[in-house]
Parts: sequence; C-alpha cells; structure tokens
Amino acid sequence: MTERSALDEVYQAVILKHYRNAKHRGELAEPDAVVPMRNPVCGDDILLQVQVDGDRIQDIRFSGHGCAISQAAASMMSEHAVGKSWDEIHAVAARFRDMVHGDETAARDKTLGDLRALSGVAKLPRRVKCAMLAWDALEEAEKKLGDSRE
Ligand code: ZN
Repeated sequence: MTERSALDEVYQAVILKHYRNAKHRGELAEPDAVVPMRNPVCGDDILLQVQVDGDRIQDIRFSGHGCAISQAAASMMSEHAVGKSWDEIHAVAARFRDMVHGDETAARDKTLGDLRALSGVAKLPRRVKCAMLAWDALEEAEKKLGDSRE
C-alpha cells in the first residue's frame, strides 16, 4: 500500500467525525493543568487543558493546529478520557500505543472503541507521533498535577 492510500484510509474514518466536529476544542474556565505539546517533525501543536475531580478527569479542552491525524486524535482522546480515572486512562493509553505501533490484537480490542479508527497509523511510522501527541500531553498533565500535590 502506498503512503497516500494508507493516509486516505485513516483520514476517511477520522476526519469526518472528529476533525470537522471536535466537541472538546476550546478552553476551560478553570483548568487544573495546562500542557503545551509540539511535534516538530510534522508541525503539530496542541494546548491541552485538564480539569480533575479527585482521581478522575472531569473535563478536557484542547486548542492548536496541525495535521488532521493529530487534531482528530486529540478530539478522540478527549472524548475517551473525560469521566475516567487515571488508572483507566493508563490502560487505554498503553493499548492505544500498542495499536499505533502495529499490535494487531490491540487493533481488534473493543475497549478502544472508535479509537481503533486510527489503527491505520501503524502503516505510517512517521505519523505515530501525531496520533500519540494528545496522549503524551495527558500524561504530562498527570505529572504536573502530581507535582503540585506534593
Ligand atoms: Zn501530524
């Protein structure tokens, strides 16, 4: 498969639903953690804002720009993470990471839900970072929150 047609496959599933209609795009009035994250290889840029309630993610917003994969992945990550505990997020993030690195069991894992629409990224090694950017930002947000508790 050429990179072009592999990209088309990813874009069809992802752009239509999330890139054009990202529910979590914007800013929070009172975020508990704000994390800027860049992917210089592709030029993706996101600013992730997280609000927590105890050990749970209460709300997430993101802003920024970049390729459709990075922005749609941020939208999908936000949708998945809101309402979840950090432990639940670690499990999904690890599974998602396996999937975009080509793990076929992960690509069939129903617990990933519509995140599986990004499984085609595994055929595009240079775009893996685009798909992971928002998850990396969320991990960084957890670190920041942990540091501020100490
Ligand atoms: Zn990108």
